[in-house]
Amino acid sequence: MPHPRSSIRHPEQSAPSERSAQRFHELKRGLDQLEYFCKGTVLKRMMKCGKAQCACASDPDKRHGPYFELTYKANGKTVNVKLSPEAAPLYKAASLQYRKLKTLLNRLEKLSQTILRQQAKLAQSHRD
Ligand SMILES: [Zn+2]
Repeated sequence: MPHPRSSIRHPEQSAPSERSAQRFHELKRGLDQLEYFCKGTVLKRMMKCGKAQCACASDPDKRHGPYFELTYKANGKTVNVKLSPEAAPLYKAASLQYRKLKTLLNRLEKLSQTILRQQAKLAQSHRD
């Protein structure tokens, strides 16, 4: 994205801001607090067994379960993985960590872009 020449005449304005750099380091420290993570969402399901004479066939409250599933997208396809009741909370926590990681990465990326633009401007102004 080219900038008009007039905008690169003021190196003092385009110097990487101390605040952006500091914020970047602060955010990066959030990565140290990251626990094991996994992509996807944990779903809790109640199921019908399919037997016509079973109570679950007519009464939604009599469905079997809960059954837990981890669902995520891979190559555009939805993948479902069955989880034991013991595994479900582990994966649920891990999926929240994954969301946290993505948020953190997005912020770090935006901040990086800002800083890189400033650094590029500064480098350019030294050449002129
Ligand atoms: Zn049933």
